[in-house]
Amino acid sequence: MIGEIISIGTELLLGQIVNTNASYLANKLAQLGIDTYYQTTVGDNKNRLLNSLKIAAERSDLIILTGGLGPTEDDLTKETVAEYLGIPLEKSAQELLKIKHYFKDRGLEWIDTNAKQADIISGSEILANEIGTAPGVALEHSNKLYVLLPGPPLEMKTMFENQVIPWLKNKTFKSEGHLYSHVLKFVGVTESKLEYLLMDLFQKQSQPTLALLAKPQEIQLRVTAKAKDWKTFCKLISPFVKEIKQRAGEYLFAVDEERAEDIIAEYLTAFNLTVGTAESCTGGMLSSALTALPGSSQYYLGSIISYHNKIKAGILGVPEGLLKEYGAVSEQVGRSMAERARKLMGSDIGIGITGIAGPGGGSCEKPVGLVYIALNARETSWCQRYYFSGDRENVRQQTVVAAQLLLLKYLRSVNH
Ligand code: ATP
Repeated sequence: MIGEIISIGTELLLGQIVNTNASYLANKLAQLGIDTYYQTTVGDNKNRLLNSLKIAAERSDLIILTGGLGPTEDDLTKETVAEYLGIPLEKSAQELLKIKHYFKDRGLEWIDTNAKQADIISGSEILANEIGTAPGVALEHSNKLYVLLPGPPLEMKTMFENQVIPWLKNKTFKSEGHLYSHVLKFVGVTESKLEYLLMDLFQKQSQPTLALLAKPQEIQLRVTAKAKDWKTFCKLISPFVKEIKQRAGEYLFAVDEERAEDIIAEYLTAFNLTVGTAESCTGGMLSSALTALPGSSQYYLGSIISYHNKIKAGILGVPEGLLKEYGAVSEQVGRSMAERARKLMGSDIGIGITGIAGPGGGSCEKPVGLVYIALNARETSWCQRYYFSGDRENVRQQTVVAAQLLLLKYLRSVNH
């Protein structure tokens, strides 16, 4: 079955509101195993809506419309669909009563135009509005399914969940399976490099399909396939995921809803290890991430936010010679910060971060986005150099995730 979503509202076209209804509905249709090939947004205009309906009915089996069910002059979805199908509108006495009660119960003044909301396309099913006043409509006509939903997101979602899903399931349509997705989250790698590493998988994709999504602090790879249940889906994608991990596993830090801090907490607790940090350009953001979970004092000891060189040398104890010779943003200083953090905090692991978050302060040699993240442990001194892109906040967020990934890499390498 092919579904199509038509969002109605001039304010959507003007960019005054974001079309969250379309995103919600597309997601729900995918979960129901209904393919959505098209979405249309049309203003409050009868002729253009008629046109959109005509096009949708030629290429889709299920047409979901949202918005324009209200009482005002520019709410014309029901009348336009009725006209398109050649079916008259009729007033539902029961709905009219409900709407009148709604007004009375809330002490709202009754204006006659409100009665328009009780107009129903003859022969259709009424979808009760549990939150607001305008009821929805569902009907089957010439082998096509039409669903009309109100615009306000909460009204629309409640109606869809409670009434449209059961209605759809009752219709002749048999689900060809559900669309499931598994999300792999990467950091410290660019979108293009990831695509390059997985190029042949992208080229021959069909079941599952792969899609890259660049977020400010990470790159997500969504592996999607249609399957009858989650277990079948996992089996289907398992060879792909294995292959992806083999090629790009060093950048992978979490999957699906997992957060780096959860996994780090599990490792540190299991291995009975502690961490201390020294942060420069992230100004405590790593510390904040590592203390996000309750009970983090068990494994996180503390941090020195050594922003100024005075603090890097005077309090943290980075040798002044290193700062002078290599500059504050350098591998040598990064390594020293990690080592000093470990010593000062008395932790098993020390992490040091130094970099240029921008927008100013960069040079040809040391551009904005250059960050060194170092990790120091008993027999380990690692330092990674990164070139992050984006604005100041993006650079800082990416740095925190990369530092968490470095810590995870270390924890995974520890043989306990
Ligand atoms: P009402 O009974 O409020 O008149 P309606 O069905 O006529 O409902 P609209 O008038 O089109 O719906 O929209 C009402 C409000 O719902 C909009 O001002 C907006 O805040 C929200 N809305 C409408 N469409 C969308 C959409 N696609 N995505 C997000 N919000 C929306």
